[in-house]
Amino acid sequence: ANEVRSQAITEVLNRSGAESTEITPLSEIWATDVFDLAKMEEALSKNAFKAVKKTVRTGEPLDKATADIVAAAMKDWAMGKGAHFFSHVFYPLTNITAEKHDGFIVTNSDGKAITEFTGSLLIKGEPDGSSFPNGSLRMTNAARGYTAWDPTSPAYIKHTPNGATLMIPSVFMSWTGESLDKKIPLLRSNAAMDAAARRVLALMGEKEIAPLNSTVGPEQEYFLVDKHFATQRPDLLLAGRTLFGAAPAKGQEFDDHYFGAIPERVQVFMQAAEEKLYRLGIPAKTHHNEVAPGQFEIAPYHEAANVAADHQQIVMTTLKATAEEHGFVCLLHEKPFAGLNGSGKHVNWSVGNETQGNLLDPGTSPEQNLNFLIFCAAVIRGVHRFGPLLRAVIATASNDHRLGANEAPPAILSVYLGDQLEGVFNDIKDGKVSVSTDGGEMDLGLSQILNFKRDPGDRNRTSPFAFTGNRFEFRAVGSSQSISGPIIAMNTILADSLNWVAETLEARLNEGLAQPAAVAAVVKEIMELHGSAVFGGDGYSEEWHKAAVEERGLRNLPTSADALPVFTEPAVVELFESTGVLSAVELNSRYEVYAEQYINSVNVEAKLVIDMAKTVIYPAALRYAADLANTYTVAADLGASFDTTTVKEIADNANALLAAANKLAEALEVHDFADVQAHMQHSATVIRSLMDEARLAADTLETIVDDAAWPLPKYSEMLFIK
Ligand code: ADP
Ligand code: MG
Repeated sequence: ANEVRSQAITEVLNRSGAESTEITPLSEIWATDVFDLAKMEEALSKNAFKAVKKTVRTGEPLDKATADIVAAAMKDWAMGKGAHFFSHVFYPLTNITAEKHDGFIVTNSDGKAITEFTGSLLIKGEPDGSSFPNGSLRMTNAARGYTAWDPTSPAYIKHTPNGATLMIPSVFMSWTGESLDKKIPLLRSNAAMDAAARRVLALMGEKEIAPLNSTVGPEQEYFLVDKHFATQRPDLLLAGRTLFGAAPAKGQEFDDHYFGAIPERVQVFMQAAEEKLYRLGIPAKTHHNEVAPGQFEIAPYHEAANVAADHQQIVMTTLKATAEEHGFVCLLHEKPFAGLNGSGKHVNWSVGNETQGNLLDPGTSPEQNLNFLIFCAAVIRGVHRFGPLLRAVIATASNDHRLGANEAPPAILSVYLGDQLEGVFNDIKDGKVSVSTDGGEMDLGLSQILNFKRDPGDRNRTSPFAFTGNRFEFRAVGSSQSISGPIIAMNTILADSLNWVAETLEARLNEGLAQPAAVAAVVKEIMELHGSAVFGGDGYSEEWHKAAVEERGLRNLPTSADALPVFTEPAVVELFESTGVLSAVELNSRYEVYAEQYINSVNVEAKLVIDMAKTVIYPAALRYAADLANTYTVAADLGASFDTTTVKEIADNANALLAAANKLAEALEVHDFADVQAHMQHSATVIRSLMDEARLAADTLETIVDDAAWPLPKYSEMLFIK
């Protein structure tokens, strides 16, 4: 290794281990920094508490008087924890979390400091929204964005070494009331799903129906790289992934990392992160190594979707900040290292309520089975009708590197049910289950089906959307993404499907069919129309890519440039408008923002490729070539001769690198595009392939140039030295 790299290696190897610290019992730290229902119950009058609880349960807005009481209690609690400031936390259309901080302090006329926090400050803040992406939704001269507390997500304390801030999870909207964020549509999608699910459950004969919620458990994958190496890689720091880097001699072929023990240093990091999460009431539940070396996973226990989404944002920032404290850089990028597994975020999703339970759990009794069959069928219908939308909500420049690669779900959306369940649905479709119409006895076929047991052992890792026993697992979601977009899409397509189911089921019941027969008829119709989205085979295989498109008519949208325009398709606009989740204007603004983000991300990387190629890699290659050439000349003077092909090889690749960088610079100068879609295609094809061309030359150079002269930390160092 060169001098700087050697020094980094020494530093990492000489690191002293973590000191033992006193371990605090979980019960003493759990949710201590959250103003949750338990703390509100203590702090509020009975009536105020009742009002808040109702809001949390039903999503109905909080009245002004109660808001004042809650605000006062919240302030007292936060100030008791040392907070001088409060901040509305909101989720703009980027994948980040945004904050606007304000002091509790106000001074009165004689200059005395007093503190103030009213209900209107709690339920309305006013950050300047002009620098947040909004598509063409808002003119900058009317750049007013409002934030308001979402009472269904609890406030919490953020600690810094010398202070504390009360953090208030909020929605973010324009002054005309349009959503500029990811929280408003999530709440709306839940409401749409709730309304549609109620219609269906009522037709299923359910008398008492509690509010329905979607429930989500996200599994977060990430990489850890020692800071000493990461800081020497401008690509890791600026783009979150390596834009160059030859494959190491040892990769992940032995699977020894996945099954191995967690390195102590990493476990210390994980526990530190988890302690912070516990204080914030985030139920971190599992952690383990992942497939690639240096790759790990954390998964909290599932929660109501809205809270889970807010918590997921905190998980991402906590992982990054804690890694920093432990001398690591935490990479949330979907593909930090070429040739190794990328990182995803499996979003486990189900819907249910207090009275009917989890509707995606087959349960143990026939009534539960019937509810399950109808809800599961509704999901199948949704994935078939709106597979391209599910592809679009996971479309980012970074996730494109992962999807469709040989270790991640394909960019074709299908549903995996498992053998047994797929058999049940197919039997219903094929009419193998006949049902008597007198409302009484069911025949043997159906009763067998109705008594089936779920088989969670049945797994298919190649499916982008898989049923896993009592939930669906959306596996194609990217590791750096907010999970809100995927949740919104799943809730909304389910709402749409359930509305269709309600109408169809009602028609069948009106025709005189008994409950089970009517359900079977609806499921049969769904399977006939939409069963082609059900696929249990190998999603990575070439045959599937061909058959999915040619035989089943599913769409393959390999890049974000192909997928994002789905947001503008009439069926999708109609879906969001009819469910009230997003207006056509809101939806279109999202398309514009995501398209622009895609183009920008690719451009930033391309510029970085040019920069690193020209100023780091090319000069190193030339220096080494000069060394060699010099040696050859001296040797020739002494009558010795070396094989000089190495210099030639270096020259060829260095020239190729320079040529690719120059072509890339030219391609970045092209601006005359018919529309944003054409611009995205340019990024996806021309820019990306020139970046690959540059990389190929650079990575070849890395395998030729003297290790002591190579300027960038190598894959082997970043992945294996901890
Ligand atoms: P695996 O790696 O086997 O997929 P993990 O234990 O890593 O499973 O993660 C499973 C995730 O799914 C957890 O977050 C868990 O809480 C969540 N989960 C379990 N049941 C449900 C459910 N009914 N709805 C939503 N999420 C669920
Ligand atoms: Mg897992």
